[in-house]
Amino acid sequence: MAERIFLSAPHLTGGEMGYIQQAFDDNWIGPLGPHVEAFEAQLVDIVGKKRAVALSSGTSAIHLALRTLGVERGDLVLASSFTFVGSVAPLRDMGAEPWFVDSNEETWNMDPELLADAVDQAVAQGRKPKAAIVVDIVGQCADYDPILEICNAAGIPIIEDAAEALGATYKGHPAGSFGKVSILSFNGNKILTTSTGGAFLSDEDDLVDEAFFLATQARDPAPHYEHSTTGYNYRMSSLLAAFGRAQLESLEERVEIRRAIFERYEAALGGLAGISFMPEAGFGRSNRWLTALTIDPAEFGRSASDVMGVLAEHNIESRPVWKPMHMQPVFAGAPRTGGAVSERLFAQGLCLPSGSALRPDQQDRVIELVAELALA
Ligand SMILES: *Cc1c(COP(=O)(O)O)cnc(C)c1O
Repeated sequence: MAERIFLSAPHLTGGEMGYIQQAFDDNWIGPLGPHVEAFEAQLVDIVGKKRAVALSSGTSAIHLALRTLGVERGDLVLASSFTFVGSVAPLRDMGAEPWFVDSNEETWNMDPELLADAVDQAVAQGRKPKAAIVVDIVGQCADYDPILEICNAAGIPIIEDAAEALGATYKGHPAGSFGKVSILSFNGNKILTTSTGGAFLSDEDDLVDEAFFLATQARDPAPHYEHSTTGYNYRMSSLLAAFGRAQLESLEERVEIRRAIFERYEAALGGLAGISFMPEAGFGRSNRWLTALTIDPAEFGRSASDVMGVLAEHNIESRPVWKPMHMQPVFAGAPRTGGAVSERLFAQGLCLPSGSALRPDQQDRVIELVAELALA
């Protein structure tokens, strides 16, 4: 069997053990301390928000974003439909209701016009949305100028889900700098990883203080354990933060490698009938987290799932793009605006191996197989 090629394997850059050793040497093993603080300071620097709280996952960061913005049972929250479930899963447990907004073809991200329609409709129903979860999908920022204008005019705070977009920019500003609260993920397949991890970022001290409070079991100030509300155990371990410090140092290099991988695929396969690579909007730089493309089976002769099957036979991992949330059984019946664009992306989309540890000879194997299918 040929060597396994993963979609986006964790990529170690060499400095990780040094930081972890330091955490052992200093006996900073718990969930607080200098490594977590240093990791948070790096995030603040990169994302351009005032403060960060390092957490156990991106999903926990979404949960804290919703709680700190006051989302409660019965509240309506707008959300990108084309995303991973972690963007919206906490809404279920909170008893809040998502209203899904479709993407546009140019960015694959939330369509500002559909967002405006959704806001108008919800407000006309007497249900002003409590927040909007705007996702920067597959490494590309959403179109924040119109989105912020719409949400600011309606008084709806934005949660920017930049889990996939660390290192990307929009009009020169970093991904993660646009939300009232922004969240990141350092899950194993993201552009960089702490094995599992996430972050909550904001410019507003009261939101950050509350996120920290809720992430550490909501302890009221008292010498004993006193609780006027309940929180969570959502903090990041010191060991993982130490690991993450080394990972963050190579962010720019990782973006460059992922972009080069995308460009190499596009140069080799972009000319094939029926294949279209994910567009990069003129407003910014994608981190090209994954190389995503769509395959029109009528033109290419095979569907995206056919290609996935052939790659799997050769021990190569590829994946469909996200199945939209409005198509998920768990969210059946949720209100939505649009849907056809993300439905097509799901039907035709494919993500090719694109981790920054991917070697050129491995990428050549993928390219050859896809190119052969076009001729077959
Ligand atoms: C990965 C991801 C998350 C969730 O992050 P976890 O760290 O896996 O909990 C949320 N939103 C998007 C868009 C993601 O890709």
